[in-house]
Amino acid sequence: MLPGTVPEALDLLASDGAAIPVAGGTDLLVHWPVRVDAHDRTYMDLSRLDALKPLSWTRDELTLGALTTYWDVIRDPRAAQEFPLLVDAARQVGAIQIQARGTWAGNIVNASPAADGVPVLMAYDAVVVLESRRGREEVPLDRFYSGYKEMKRRRDQLVVGIRMPRRRYSYQMFEKVGARRAQAIAKVGLAVTHSGAGWRVVAASVAPTIRRCPAVERLLETGTPIASPDGLLPAIAQDVAPIDDIRSSARYRTRVMARLLYHDLRDVWGKRG
Ligand SMILES: Cc1cc2nc3c(=O)[nH]c(=O)nc-3n(C[C@H](O)[C@H](O)[C@H](O)COP(=O)(O)OP(=O)(O)OC[C@H]3O[C@@H](n4cnc5c(N)ncnc54)[C@H](O)[C@@H]3O)c2cc1C
Repeated sequence: MLPGTVPEALDLLASDGAAIPVAGGTDLLVHWPVRVDAHDRTYMDLSRLDALKPLSWTRDELTLGALTTYWDVIRDPRAAQEFPLLVDAARQVGAIQIQARGTWAGNIVNASPAADGVPVLMAYDAVVVLESRRGREEVPLDRFYSGYKEMKRRRDQLVVGIRMPRRRYSYQMFEKVGARRAQAIAKVGLAVTHSGAGWRVVAASVAPTIRRCPAVERLLETGTPIASPDGLLPAIAQDVAPIDDIRSSARYRTRVMARLLYHDLRDVWGKRG
C-alpha cells in the first residue's frame, strides 16, 4: 500500500490492523528473508507522506517528523548546537547509507534494547506523538515501552512526530561501547543530560528495554559522594537487569556502565563530600 496523505494512511491502518508501516526499511528488510510468517502481511510504504519528513523548530520545541532520518539531523546546524547528542548518536548508527535511510521513529518502534537513537531522545525528554482515526495521543518516550519489544502503540496508530523541549543543558554525554567504532551493535549505551529539569540517565543494552536509571539519577540529584566505579554498583543494580548473550556478559555490561558513569561524570562526583 502506498498512501499519499497521512489521513489516507490512518484509514488504511484502521481497516487492516495487521498492516506494517515501512519507513526506511533498514530494520524491517533485514528480518525479511527469515520472517516467512510476515511475507503475507500488508506493508504500508510511508515514503510519499511528505508532511512527515521535515524536522521543525518552534520557540519551545524541536519536532522530528516520523520520516526524519539520522542524516537530516546530522546536517541541521541547530541540532548540533542545541541537541548535540542527537548528532553524536546519529553519526554512530550504521554507516552513511543507513543514516540516510533510517528514521528516528523506526528506531523507536523497532524497540531494540540496543538502539542508539532511543537513549538520546529519552535523555532529552522526547514525547512520541501517535495518530489514528480515533485521535491523537502523546506518550513520553520514557513511558513508551512496557517490556521487550512491547510498547504503548496500538496497531492502528502511526507515529507522526517526536517532540523535544528546547532547554539549556549544563551536561550532555552519549557513549556507545561496541566491538568496534562503526557498524556495531551496542554492548552498553549511555546518554546523560542535566538541565533545569534535573538529571536524566538513560541506559541501553542492559535491560529488556532502553530505560531511565532513577537510582543513579537520585545519586546525582542528592549529591551523594561517590569515590569509585564500585560505589555506583548498588544503584546500577536497582536500575538495570543485563543478560549474558553473544555480544557480552551481564557482569561486563554492569562494570562498563559503572566505569563510564564514574569517569565521564568524575567532575560531578568529585565536587561532593
Ligand atoms: C547495516 C545496518 C546497521 C545498523 N546500525 C544501527 C546502529 O548502529 N544503531 C541503531 O540503533 N540501529 C542500527 N540499525 C537499525 C536501523 O537502521 C535503525 O533502527 C533505524 O532507525 C530504523 O529506521 P527505519 O526507518 O529504517 O525503520 P523501518 O525498518 O522502516 O521500521 C522499523 C519498525 O518501525 C515501524 N515503523 C516505522 N515508522 C513508523 C511509524 N511512523 N509509525 C509506526 N511504526 C513505524 C515499522 O513497522 C517497523 O516495525 C542498523 C541497520 C542496518 C541494516
